[in-house]
Amino acid sequence: MDRTINAIDLRVQYQTEKEKVVALRKASFTLREGKSIGIVGESGSGKTSLALAMMGLIHRKHTRSGELKLFGEPYLSLPEKEQKKHRWNTMAMMFQNSMNVLNPVMPIGKQLTERLVERKIMDSRQAEQEAESLLKSVGLEGWEAKAFPHQLSGGMQQRVLLAMAVACKPRFLILDEPTGSLDGLARAEMIQRIQSLQKQMNFAMLVISHDIKLIGELTQEIMVLYGGCVVEQGATDAVIEKPMHPYSRGLFNASVELAPYKDLWGIPGESNNGIEEGCVFNNRCTQPSSLCYRHMPSLESVSIERKVACHQNGLIHVLKGEGLSKEYDIGKKSIVALDKVYMNLRHGETLAVIGPSGSGKSTLAKVLGGFTEADEGDVFFNGKKLKEHPFSCCEEGVQLVLQDPFSALSHRMTVEEVVSEPLQINKIGDQAERKRRVKHALRDLQLSDEEKWLHRYTSSLSGGQRQRVALARALVMNPKVLIADEITSMLDVSTQANVLRLLKGLQSQKGFALLFITHDLNLGRKIADQLIVLDKGKVIEEGNANRILQINHPNNHQSPCENLIKAGLING
Ligand code: SF4
Repeated sequence: MDRTINAIDLRVQYQTEKEKVVALRKASFTLREGKSIGIVGESGSGKTSLALAMMGLIHRKHTRSGELKLFGEPYLSLPEKEQKKHRWNTMAMMFQNSMNVLNPVMPIGKQLTERLVERKIMDSRQAEQEAESLLKSVGLEGWEAKAFPHQLSGGMQQRVLLAMAVACKPRFLILDEPTGSLDGLARAEMIQRIQSLQKQMNFAMLVISHDIKLIGELTQEIMVLYGGCVVEQGATDAVIEKPMHPYSRGLFNASVELAPYKDLWGIPGESNNGIEEGCVFNNRCTQPSSLCYRHMPSLESVSIERKVACHQNGLIHVLKGEGLSKEYDIGKKSIVALDKVYMNLRHGETLAVIGPSGSGKSTLAKVLGGFTEADEGDVFFNGKKLKEHPFSCCEEGVQLVLQDPFSALSHRMTVEEVVSEPLQINKIGDQAERKRRVKHALRDLQLSDEEKWLHRYTSSLSGGQRQRVALARALVMNPKVLIADEITSMLDVSTQANVLRLLKGLQSQKGFALLFITHDLNLGRKIADQLIVLDKGKVIEEGNANRILQINHPNNHQSPCENLIKAGLING
């Protein structure tokens, strides 16, 4: 007996008065009974069209193609009359807006059991009892059966919708924003009800939501939709921990539920569903190749249980450290600064390296930037060995900004000389071009580009201004990787906040990867996507920063604090 739901190449195109709009380009998945899949994406990504297509509820004037197999039997190719027999019985949907779904002039109980009576599954007396028991199954008391919708709170109405959806004991349940309008407590209760009903009834479940934390709590698999395309698909925990598609990463970074302590950054630009050729995300992506404007990528497996639709196989791995070890000899003593460190930094990502003084953070920064050689191990930039290609001396390479803005910039040089120096040394552009780029970099860092300012000596600048000039000097080379070694530790708190926001804003526009070295856990929490904790040259903790630093993260199955206490980063 087939116990699976199979969605095969579902596609929806709406016909408006003026044009045809593709809402869903291609979506396929397989779901077993008792299991759940989550669908996430911005408004207009095709989530609701997918649900309506599966239910067979797309109006005939629009176009829908593809098939849905319900436990081995084709459903969408059935005539409407036959589909109706399955709707609500085999497959049901909980819609998101209770006020649009509930009939304001009919008592709740009657609405709940209407279909059961219609289909002669029970008579009206039995239906009354059934309504009460359905209401109890979703945590209500039963008296609500006699009430009208307006007499119930939003949370109660939402539960009524859930009771309605499970009334005919479906084997496949679709939930569209099941906790959309609920407060924290009601949301938690709703999640618990859904989980216990699924356990009891063993239905397969598809959950649509913009709340990624909810998807983390309710589902085992996730599909990320963008512009009507599935751009990433995989195990929910793993995708939330380390998204691979640039859009998924951007979406999760904008989720306040996942990262309550982090500064939120939306994805720059607007979604463009009208893209005919190329990747649907190409107008917002910061790592496109020419192929991205010509061909639409298909959803391909990039690792076990992970599929991504991207010509670059997802986020590009720009900087990798493999087995990095380094010792310093001080007198007769050998100090281990790095001990077999592995790290991986992807395009547009912020990896915070956190650890107490002497843990090896700055040595790691210098080794990764190519300024110190490791005793063992290799550094790769865009797949090439750093030893053989000095990427710190070229455009679109690796740039390092150091902690002390006073010693990093020669006080005998003017702002213009300091910022244009790397261009000059590397013989990039003529004088006019260099000046244009210097001015541009200064404006990016919110510094003046007037002649008077360009000719100021760096010795006349404040600490915050100097650090921004140091950043402009690095960014004038358009680096793919910026290594920032404790860059805010010598700044006052207000200047520190301004510099960090500026840097993150530039990163989200330009897409450079940021390796952020700090001893301050709170700074790491604010800006990092991924995290490495170093102690005595060893990596003792690594992974998604939100998970490691947030105890109630959906993927946090154990306390993350132990290793941080061990490293002296937080008090035990
Ligand atoms: S790299 Fe290309 S294919 Fe991948 S998401 Fe960006 S634009 Fe799309």
